[in-house]
Amino acid sequence: MARYVFITGGVVSSLGKGLASAALGALLQARGYSVRLRKLDPYLNVDPGTMSPFEHGEVFVTDDGAETDLDLGHYERFTGVSARKTDSVSSGRIYSTVLEKERRGDYLGKTIQVIPHVTNEIKDFIGIGDDEVDFMLCEIGGTVGDIEGLPFFEAIRQFAQEKARGQCIFMHLTLLPWIAASGELKTKPTQHSVKELRSIGIAPDVLVCRSDKPIPEKEREKIALFCNVRKEDVIAAPDLRSIYEAPLAYHREGLDQAVLDAFSISPAPKPNLDRWEDVADRIFNAEGEVRVAIVGKYTQLEDAYKSIAEALTHGGMANRVKVRSEWIEAEIFEREDPAPYLEGFHAILVPGGFGERGTEGKIKAAEFARTRNIPYLGICLGMQMAVIEAARNLAGMKTAGSEEFDHEAGKKRFEPVVYHLKEWVQGNHKVARKVEDDKGGTMRLGAYTAHLSPGSKVAEVYGDTVIEERHRHRYEVDIKYRDKLEEQGMCFSGMSPDGRLPEIVEVKDHPWFIGVQFHPELKSKPFAPHPLFSDFIRAAKEVERLV
Ligand code: GLN
Repeated sequence: MARYVFITGGVVSSLGKGLASAALGALLQARGYSVRLRKLDPYLNVDPGTMSPFEHGEVFVTDDGAETDLDLGHYERFTGVSARKTDSVSSGRIYSTVLEKERRGDYLGKTIQVIPHVTNEIKDFIGIGDDEVDFMLCEIGGTVGDIEGLPFFEAIRQFAQEKARGQCIFMHLTLLPWIAASGELKTKPTQHSVKELRSIGIAPDVLVCRSDKPIPEKEREKIALFCNVRKEDVIAAPDLRSIYEAPLAYHREGLDQAVLDAFSISPAPKPNLDRWEDVADRIFNAEGEVRVAIVGKYTQLEDAYKSIAEALTHGGMANRVKVRSEWIEAEIFEREDPAPYLEGFHAILVPGGFGERGTEGKIKAAEFARTRNIPYLGICLGMQMAVIEAARNLAGMKTAGSEEFDHEAGKKRFEPVVYHLKEWVQGNHKVARKVEDDKGGTMRLGAYTAHLSPGSKVAEVYGDTVIEERHRHRYEVDIKYRDKLEEQGMCFSGMSPDGRLPEIVEVKDHPWFIGVQFHPELKSKPFAPHPLFSDFIRAAKEVERLV
């Protein structure tokens, strides 16, 4: 039976609850425990798959094909534990399950209510896989007091009440604002937030207080007194130079010790933090810098490409260089020559994306990288753009394009080198889709195997010929153009096991030009950088040496 840590937030949003949860997971692992992290989101979307990246940041895809909150990406990057479908749930999903059951008649004529029907559904979800790990860390999205969040708070209160004493603890994140006029850190918002939490029956065991100044002893004592915790349970969370410093920083502040104390685990096993010392050393003692241009669409909001930014950082860590990523709006290249923008970069990355806007600019970026011998990594849409570029400029198919944009425009303007896939094989069963299918959850999602050609660049990069990577797309490069493109030097070096779906293309006679239909960034970790990103940055470093 697992022990549970429920993580809630108060005062304001965006305090870094996801990061604190992930860092705590890493620290418990460092003490020899197994962990699983889970996110409960109060919004009404069934999952974030249909939310705009501008609105909600990146959609993180799990191996088992769930489209989840980007916090699950943090969890994986810090713990290395692959998230599952059952690690992310929203009010929308909970309500739709309850309503389905009601329609089926499962409630035997009862009146359906938030308590107990919705809260029971939440509790069932929290307890999935209870026997598999030592600690289950459940983060509740939003802040205490939000209307949507109430059923979740009520559910965790009941859950802890029903478990054995000492099996569940509550950790609450708050903010200590600095008032410059009086030169003080203010504890009142924290007191109020804890009061709010206690009014719904939850008494926090550990308080994590964000502040940009150290917490003076006097304020720490005050928080402890008014919030009914020990002084050692008030953990300072200062701003960090890098998120990967979080496990070490939280350890220094005593977070893991406070949590183990709250469970009365004594003596606490000693932590082994070697992994995180090495990560910090690689980040803070990098030699040199490479500049990577990310030519995309959702460039105003960095969270929209969170995992890519992190994977690039990991690639830098593998090579002990700092990676400076700069975001360039693809649409610019539809009006202007990309050369002045891209010339100063050591590598170009075109990430995934949806819809036609900016795609001609991405094709220009791919052309620039190919013809100027600059390392290029195309991810998902970025691979499709590279294939279209090669079809147009190498194979002379002037109207090559993607069916995705024709569907949107309702016209046939392009020869569909990239087409809408409606039937494919997953493991040993067939999946079928129709054009008019719902938008949510109907893409090719989750982990699929690819076979790499022996002797290809990617086989060398992976050091393997069978790989498994995560997907999230509707369109595919059409295999029928393979011969034509291979004649021109674009090689299809990774294929689905049935040989029908191109998974990887690479340009021969180029220092480093790889397009992948999947999302390698989702599997990269600071302590285990993804080989594609490590090698991409290695190639960028070569360019840096040459210029
Ligand atoms: N829009 C493209 C597709 O659906 C690419 C998706 C992506 O980049 N994730 O195939």
